[in-house]
Amino acid sequence: MVELRKEPLTGNWVIISTERGKRPLEFTGEETIKKGGEKCPFCEGNESLTPPEIFSYRKKGTKPDTPGWWIRVVPNKYPALQSKGRLNKRKKGIYEVMNGIGAHEVIIEAPQHVEDIFFLGKKVIEKVIRAYRERMIDLMRDSRFKYILIFKNKGRAAGASLNHSHSQLIATPIVPKCVEEELKAARRYFDFNKSCIFCDIIGQEKNLKERVLWEDENFLSFCPFASRFPYEMWILPKRHSSDFEEINQSEVESLAGILKKCISSLTRISPHLPYNYVIHTSPCDRPDSKYYHWHLEIIPRLTVVAGFEWGAGFYINYIPPEKAARELKQKG
Ligand SMILES: [Zn+2]
Ligand SMILES: [Zn+2]
Ligand SMILES: [Zn+2]
Repeated sequence: MVELRKEPLTGNWVIISTERGKRPLEFTGEETIKKGGEKCPFCEGNESLTPPEIFSYRKKGTKPDTPGWWIRVVPNKYPALQSKGRLNKRKKGIYEVMNGIGAHEVIIEAPQHVEDIFFLGKKVIEKVIRAYRERMIDLMRDSRFKYILIFKNKGRAAGASLNHSHSQLIATPIVPKCVEEELKAARRYFDFNKSCIFCDIIGQEKNLKERVLWEDENFLSFCPFASRFPYEMWILPKRHSSDFEEINQSEVESLAGILKKCISSLTRISPHLPYNYVIHTSPCDRPDSKYYHWHLEIIPRLTVVAGFEWGAGFYINYIPPEKAARELKQKG
């Protein structure tokens, strides 16, 4: 039984899920990261160790849940949300609650045991991005879902329980609070300035250059002005678009190249550095966003979120983004 409860003071929703607690990692606190081979459920040949696949790019003539794939998408074995049932939003006294309905999928990025996405060839990363898009378009057809978040946890400190390169996707029946905040801020900026804040950020960063990492005709990557974390990086499409799923073929190719560069420069700063990345796009049922602009945020996990950050919502970053950009560019 999974429940979504609204925190009455902040309006944040919390997923109360006992299923998730069964994950070996949290349950025993033991090292569950495996070396690959026999026991790794994401390695080719071990398809029976995962729930049946939802989607794959695979060689012609090969059957689902057998070898012969390049990218494989499966339900998370310990899902944060359940895919079956109705939302049944209701009140419990002063509290708001609904059933924990959603989708939780794993995108396995390679059949061989590779530990990080930057080890993969650019063509393979393009397939990963195309798989993100395919899954997003498919899940958007389900009217119960309001948001689809694609993210990556790399390394234990970033929340991964397996070190075979993979990303995840969670479809939620509510728009996450931090996305709502970005939407609100972007709308306010648009109403006042009659332009998209993200397009204007691209313009200013390109002029100043001091935080810019890599760019091509389609994307700009940079360390954001008020980076919350050391070596935080953002990747923005240059073409104004609020919806990730509208990415075109030439943009998929560019994004694969820039993402590979960003992640590999990060691991040259510190090998095996845990990190997260997340794609922020507009909610499923808000197609009108002339003011929102999808993007990818990379959050290295060099620091832990501590008391001050929890209590104040302020971040302390000991590496200025200008310095971070210089260092990352040298390594890239
Ligand atoms: Zn593996
Ligand atoms: Zn824009
Ligand atoms: Zn964002």
